[in-house]
Amino acid sequence: MDCIFCKIAAGEAPSETIFEDADVRVFKNIHPKAPVHLLVIPKMHIESIAHLERGHSGITAKLIFAAKDAARRLGLAGYKLAFNVGRDGGQVIDHLHLHVLGGWQKDESKDFNI
Ligand code: AMP
Ligand code: ZN
Repeated sequence: MDCIFCKIAAGEAPSETIFEDADVRVFKNIHPKAPVHLLVIPKMHIESIAHLERGHSGITAKLIFAAKDAARRLGLAGYKLAFNVGRDGGQVIDHLHLHVLGGWQKDESKDFNI
């Protein structure tokens, strides 16, 4: 399967990695939409939130904990977490990824409020 995030997960394609363990990798988005824009991916290929199965609950929780730990390590006072799901949800890469957006000045993040 030709999946860029599987290659990044395996270290076969370059990334600016903040953290990795056996299950997840956290790296910088190459086209950041915020002063700090990280992506958190499972190393196993799961297409999207819409493709999650019950057995994926452990890995899904790990994505959120990895996001929390990376945000704290980078000193983010606050941040937003987002999953784009499917083309109509803005998903371009079909390998599950959690966006971590932050690093704005005080109050600036309100421009992104939904
Ligand atoms: P999405 O629209 O949710 O599928 O988001 C995919 C994200 O991956 C986009 O924000 C891209 O900027 C980012 N991206 C694509 N290729 C790479 C890459 N090689 N390294 C880091 N980020 C990437
Ligand atoms: Zn993949």
